[in-house]
Amino acid sequence: MKDFNLDKLTRENVKGLSPYSSARDEYVSDGTEMVFLDANENPFSNGVNRYPDPQQRSLKSVLAEQKGVKTENLLLGNGSDEVLDLIYRAFCEPKEDNIITLPPTYGMYKVLSGINNIENKEVLLTANFEPNVDEILATANNNSKILFLCSPNNPTGNSFTAAKMHQLLEEFNGLVVVDEAYIDFSPQESWVTQLGNYPNLIVTQTLSKAYGLAGVRLGICIASEEIISVLNKIKPPYNVNELTQQRAKERVLDIDSVKQEVSKIMLEKEALSKVLLQVSFIEKVYASDANFILAKVDDATKRYNQLLEKGIVIRNRTTQPLCENTLRFTVGTPKENKQLINALNQINN
Ligand SMILES: *Cc1c(COP(=O)(O)O)cnc(C)c1O
Repeated sequence: MKDFNLDKLTRENVKGLSPYSSARDEYVSDGTEMVFLDANENPFSNGVNRYPDPQQRSLKSVLAEQKGVKTENLLLGNGSDEVLDLIYRAFCEPKEDNIITLPPTYGMYKVLSGINNIENKEVLLTANFEPNVDEILATANNNSKILFLCSPNNPTGNSFTAAKMHQLLEEFNGLVVVDEAYIDFSPQESWVTQLGNYPNLIVTQTLSKAYGLAGVRLGICIASEEIISVLNKIKPPYNVNELTQQRAKERVLDIDSVKQEVSKIMLEKEALSKVLLQVSFIEKVYASDANFILAKVDDATKRYNQLLEKGIVIRNRTTQPLCENTLRFTVGTPKENKQLINALNQINN
């Protein structure tokens, strides 16, 4: 984007805010033994009787090292859904501003624009699920604050062509959020490496998919220090609880286990893709850089219901634009995938 000016993109009321200062912000421990009588907590220890660190310093330091950024480039949230919501609330003025999304894509962008009363301008992906760059740029106006690029995209599974993303980062005059929920399954490089080149780039990641911690709710926003400072002004002080901070840190440090599970999932995905191709009612299996496979079938609703009867729950995506008669299969354990294959073969007859 030309002449990037974050101040011009930030909501007026947010510019004037300073972050809420909690007891845990006002006195930061330097390791000295202190008596804490500042936060009206119950003093009897049970592991979680104290408020959590509002800046999640310990967790951020391990994440920063793993992602190759500074802790000042990180904002953590209660899932990436909270992180996305904070981005809307920092930059989009309700009833005035708009965002641009590229269906078929992740449903939360639309939900959040509804909640925040922000117009959602939708520009369909092309037939091969790529951003329609010309149309996106033609649709954008002075109030277009955010463009969401989900890559690898949910539910299609493909990564967008890097050249198209570069062009959008250069020519879209707002913030570009690259949602990398599935980046750990992808052979593509993360856009985090491009933060130095694009001051308007925000990357979101999550521990919900490859890291196997959907239940703890930990979303990651990676952006310039300037953008992170704005988001910190509006973040609820204790948005990431103590149990989440502890479990997330343990798991991030145990990256070897994460990588082993990811490799197993990738092998299973390759095998499953081949089997799906042989199922008579499956017409097309789309290439995927994620941990799920989108397939086109003869009658998605019928096949979805047949699988339900066999005890298998997948996602019917037939109502999504460009996804008529498609089903989305999450890759399971080897045993679960065998159950899926058995069920498909029974239906097949
Ligand atoms: C699953 C998913 C997320 C994850 O959201 P969390 O709130 O972190 O669990 C984000 N974006 C996309 C595209 C997803 O598919």
